Amino acid sequence: MSTLSGRILVTGGAGFIGSALIWALNRRGHTDIVVSDFLGSDEKWRNLVPLRFADYVEADAFRRQLAANPSAFGRFTAVFHLGACSSTTEKNAGYLVDNNYSVSKELAAWALGQGARFIYASSAATYGDGAQGMDDVSEDLGRLRPLNMYGYSKHLFDLHAQRSRWLERIVGVKYFNVFGPNEEHKGDMRSLVDKAYQQILANGKVQLFKSHKPEFKDGEQMRDFLYVKDAVEMTLHFAEQAPKAGGLYNLGSGQANTWLTLTRAIFAALGREPEIEFVDMPGVLRGKYQYFTQANVAKLRATGYERTMTPLADAVRDYVQGYLVPGKKLGE
Ligand code: NAD
Repeated sequence: MSTLSGRILVTGGAGFIGSALIWALNRRGHTDIVVSDFLGSDEKWRNLVPLRFADYVEADAFRRQLAANPSAFGRFTAVFHLGACSSTTEKNAGYLVDNNYSVSKELAAWALGQGARFIYASSAATYGDGAQGMDDVSEDLGRLRPLNMYGYSKHLFDLHAQRSRWLERIVGVKYFNVFGPNEEHKGDMRSLVDKAYQQILANGKVQLFKSHKPEFKDGEQMRDFLYVKDAVEMTLHFAEQAPKAGGLYNLGSGQANTWLTLTRAIFAALGREPEIEFVDMPGVLRGKYQYFTQANVAKLRATGYERTMTPLADAVRDYVQGYLVPGKKLGE
């Protein structure tokens, strides 16, 4: 049962996880939602069409107006800060620092100033290659070595939140590999499920990266794949059932699966025999590639999150048959 009430801000609300979060809020009856995003010129505006919310404000205008007047958009009880440049290959470090780090600092200070619950997206990318583990329990954040500037921009805010002791009151969610409806606008950054579906439509087969480490066979590199419907339930949990929790939390399925398992599930959902081809991993990715990720979700469970995670094959079937094949968005 939802205990959230009042006005809610969702930054990045036209994006993949943000629009899914608004969809889940709408299903609970919440519509007093302000959405901020950069709609730009891609097709992500389509994610908003089936959703209900009170206002939409472009992110730069939102930032400017809030700086001039902290009450410009009214009082909020909860802020879900999912807005960020989510591209792991973005090279403009100055832009990432401003948009992912500085904006987060400003928003968190503002939200805490008005007593709003603040939940923000960190990332499993902050863990880098996992050499220092992927546990969300250690307070020694300084040990982590993100492999790309995107991950570092998220890590910078985690460090700031810890230094300023905000992390005792706010929650940073470290999503692992999220997939599901509403991710189409993400281009290269969208999940394999969407990419594979397009490849199957175009030529009947799917290309996977070869492994460049002998201990992993081709296609047997492993990831923790999390269905977006589970991701938003976990995120909302921190505003509903665990409104006092603070700190960083891994959000994943808790299970590592191979790319091969995922790809076979996509073919199965389409009722087709798998046809898979291995290709060399692009040089630019090789040194920065994660071969194994698995979220330990004990810390999330300890806050009282009891729902079972959707099994991978069921999640893939729901996504493929309910959204990709009919070309639907969440809420349609
Ligand atoms: P997405 O790119 O679809 O959504 C992010 C949205 O934020 C975009 O629509 C973008 O235009 C918007 N945005 C950028 N800067 C903004 C700002 N300053 N204010 C408001 N909006 C802004 O990506 P997503 O997958 O939905 O990611 C949501 C959040 O979760 C991001 O913070 C991302 O870094 C994080 N995350 C996602 C994953 C994943 O697997 N999808 C994994 C780890 C972390």
